[in-house]
Amino acid sequence: CIVFIDELDALGKARGGGNMGGAHDEREQTLNQLLVEMDGFDTRANVIVMAATNRPEILDPALLRPGRFDRQVLIPAPDINGRMAILRVHLANVRVDPALDLRRVASRTPGFVGADLANVVNEAALLAARRDREHVVFEDFDEAVDRVSIGLERRSQVIGDEEKRITAYHEAGHAICAAFSAHADPVHKVTIIPRGLTGGVTVFARENHRHITGETALRDMLVTGLGGRVAEQLELGEASTGAYNDIQHVSRVARGMVVELGM
Ligand code: ZN
Repeated sequence: CIVFIDELDALGKARGGGNMGGAHDEREQTLNQLLVEMDGFDTRANVIVMAATNRPEILDPALLRPGRFDRQVLIPAPDINGRMAILRVHLANVRVDPALDLRRVASRTPGFVGADLANVVNEAALLAARRDREHVVFEDFDEAVDRVSIGLERRSQVIGDEEKRITAYHEAGHAICAAFSAHADPVHKVTIIPRGLTGGVTVFARENHRHITGETALRDMLVTGLGGRVAEQLELGEASTGAYNDIQHVSRVARGMVVELGM
């Protein structure tokens, strides 16, 4: 018999920290009861209790003692093979282009978890239906990934020519710097169609999250990140607010390299 408790933190939050009144009290009683029940299982009855949480750090320590939830299995975001397998599950009932390269779809989604991938498949199927296609093709998935990760395209938004020009030079700057940086991720596409909160975006293709990044790769990240601002200065003669997010990101990386990583 397997007992599975999802979102364990909802009732297994660490106790104590002052008397917060009714609801708090009740939760503690539930937790106490759970602890008592877990101690009471007959060891010969083969009862396995499993639980899932996204926030193991806030669990009550008593829950993690031997005999209770004493073994932890960490499930990180899936790698490219994992994402392909998850996509395959969600695509079981979707009519897909037989020539679709699933690896190419999976390579566009580093950092995505199961729910995100389900969302991508759903969006892609909707897009294919809206475009009167017989089956879902790569372009639908490509668009679906952008929708899920960045937001909807705002094609109807009116943007002045001058602003388009700035965005075009800015994004081209990112793309060109990436192309000339040996350790930068390859550029998947560049667009100046506003999407979500961004005016334009350079999308990189990366198969997996890196677990270890070298100093040269970090430097290339700084170069690529600043490419937008530099292109604006070179071609338009002045900086704009368009690099706001880039500069935030680059500053964080640079500070981390010096302060935390001793580079
Ligand atoms: Zn930028």
